[in-house]
Amino acid sequence: MTIRLKNTATKTVEEYRDNPVHPGVVHMYHCGPTVYQRAHVGNHRAFIFADLIRRTFELAGYDVRQVINITDVGHLTDDGDAGDDKLEREAGKIGKRATDIAREITEFFLHDLAQLHIKTDGTQFPRATDHIAEQIELIASLEQKGFAYTTSDGVYFDTSKFEAYGLLGGVAEAIAQQREGARVAVNDEKRNPADFALWKLSPQQLDERAPARQQEWKSPWGVGFPGWHIECSAMSMKYLGETLDIHTGGIDHIAVHHNDEIAQSEAHTGKEFSRYWMHVNFITIDGQKVSKSLGNTLTLDELATRFGVSPIAYRYWVLTGHYASQMNLTEDALRGAATALKRLKTAITNLPPHEESAHDRSDARTAVLELVSNDLDTPGLIAHVWKNVTEGTGWARTYVAAADEVLGLNLLVADEILPTPENVLELVCQRDEARAAKDWAASDRLRTEIEGFGFTVKDGPNGTSVERSS
Ligand code: AMP
Ligand code: ZN
Repeated sequence: MTIRLKNTATKTVEEYRDNPVHPGVVHMYHCGPTVYQRAHVGNHRAFIFADLIRRTFELAGYDVRQVINITDVGHLTDDGDAGDDKLEREAGKIGKRATDIAREITEFFLHDLAQLHIKTDGTQFPRATDHIAEQIELIASLEQKGFAYTTSDGVYFDTSKFEAYGLLGGVAEAIAQQREGARVAVNDEKRNPADFALWKLSPQQLDERAPARQQEWKSPWGVGFPGWHIECSAMSMKYLGETLDIHTGGIDHIAVHHNDEIAQSEAHTGKEFSRYWMHVNFITIDGQKVSKSLGNTLTLDELATRFGVSPIAYRYWVLTGHYASQMNLTEDALRGAATALKRLKTAITNLPPHEESAHDRSDARTAVLELVSNDLDTPGLIAHVWKNVTEGTGWARTYVAAADEVLGLNLLVADEILPTPENVLELVCQRDEARAAKDWAASDRLRTEIEGFGFTVKDGPNGTSVERSS
């Protein structure tokens, strides 16, 4: 069965063509996290999306080779060529080594992926700081081919030398206009406003009184560190070859980061960098993109402690939307998803036993694939799961098993027990103390507070006990 996917490069839903160089194997690269603060629920949507593509291809019988990079240097606070390195700034702020922060946050990230049932077997997670030599080599090649120039603060890619610059997402025209309009306005040494840093010199190379960076390396252009975009070109090509099959990221990466990756890689190889580009839309809160810089983020732990919503209920909620649509996260939506998932699992547990044949299994997988091969239609798939389960036919369980290969919700496993969060346990203790002191007003207030975290309160001979509300 053919898989149809929306390719950002052509803005159309296209049939996926198998790669003739490695038939049956899909090489995918996903722009990974910048590991200075814990990944938030917006970031997680990007990796649930990557996992969904992998699972869809696996259901169709492909092998998938995946790389998710770990950005631990060079991503500046303005996402461009100015501002502080996010890792260095965090290190200064909390008084830790940048390398320690990167290690801790990467561990959290891998833990989060596991909690979200994101498959990682065989996935590579290369770190930018482990690939400085590859990045320097790539920059040297670009310089040698005439695509790079040096300024007093580093080495830049000359976007005017790469004719196809800005085709992804159709930003080329805007860039051309910007180039015209900005001739006078460009006040630094960049030749064109869209040019971007490949290598930045250490601030101490420019002014010896400048504060020292923790992470910097020698290079043919002086001591410094790589620009943010070059790591993705260097590491994706190292692990997956010069032409990737699918490259993904959030829509915020289209205009600059991905156009820059294309320019660097194609200028170096003369070959198409990625055959398909796919982008996931934002998670918003109150209509605003969830982002570390806006300070409106939520981690998976916060979902559990503040709303009593498990990572899998979050995954379920994410998959009820199509990846190309923006999704606004609200407490009601999350709690609604958690309740729906619980009901679904209960209904599945109560399905009549069914002697399933290999033929049933194969039919179910084909039926599921038919839906998801239509540009990853997970809302449609979830609707079909509900329909089958509500109708309660014998075949429903077989269908659920096939659907779950893509959804990854452990639908056939009885509900996972989430541990009661610390803050709720603390309130339970306080309530027991209040009741021992016969302070009924405090006891009632604490009951309401505990219920606010999504728990029901029961009074028994051994004191207060709590249970997650459904
Ligand atoms: P970062 O750690 O900022 O480099 O982002 C890691 C991934 O998360 C990238 O693919 C981003 O495009 C994606 N991302 C960041 N914020 C959001 C959001 N609010 N919704 C969906 N994806 C996001
Ligand atoms: Zn990238």
